[in-house]
Amino acid sequence: MEQTRMTPGEILDKIEEIFPDAQCELHHDNAFQLLVAVVLSAQTTDASVNRVTPALFARWPDAKSLAQAPLEEVEETLKRLGLYRTKAKNIIALSAALEEQFDGQVPSTFKELQSLPGVGRKTANVVRSVAFDIPSLAVDTHVDRVSKRLGLAKPSDSVEKVEEKLRRKLDRDRWNRAHHELIFFGRYLCTARNPKCEECPFPAICKRKKLDEYNRAQKEKGAAAAGRKAAEQAS
Ligand code: SF4
Repeated sequence: MEQTRMTPGEILDKIEEIFPDAQCELHHDNAFQLLVAVVLSAQTTDASVNRVTPALFARWPDAKSLAQAPLEEVEETLKRLGLYRTKAKNIIALSAALEEQFDGQVPSTFKELQSLPGVGRKTANVVRSVAFDIPSLAVDTHVDRVSKRLGLAKPSDSVEKVEEKLRRKLDRDRWNRAHHELIFFGRYLCTARNPKCEECPFPAICKRKKLDEYNRAQKEKGAAAAGRKAAEQAS
């Protein structure tokens, strides 16, 4: 008989069975390279980032060298990535801040990481988890979507709320693994479009329909508000 109720721990146990080797897929040799790779991964895939970072790090392997790199040459190296101009500027500024404030080293506290240009909550969490093995739960687009489909969070929850709920519901010593496992589940099985539901162990607890309805209603609300605003401006 299908299990219609599962604890968060049981859900993660199942995902771990499917993806026992879930781990960070951004190639890097140290905390600096990881930090830069995570910043570059905004709105693009890890595979795309991995295609440009070998050349980037071969030429500018640390904060000191990247802080002094000519912008046009960094842009040229990143040009296969979306938003490469902004990203080139950001990673040079980030390297300069590391040099000036942290002697070229990547800090490990949340506050210090978030003080760096272009480093938000998600990036800080990934770096703390992967580079320093500090229990953290980064919520990216995959973690947000699958947490809601699996009922670990509500459709209306903000990213911060999803993080808070996961931290509350999962044992601290599994946060780092859970982060990668939820990403792998969302990247390779419970994909945004065309999830492989026939291979999934969670159809009995899945809230995808409810989440899709909520997202559709939000979209309609947004479109109606934009229409009203346009009508007001035209009158
Ligand atoms: S049943 Fe489909 S949508 Fe639901 S959790 Fe599984 S893969 Fe995702």
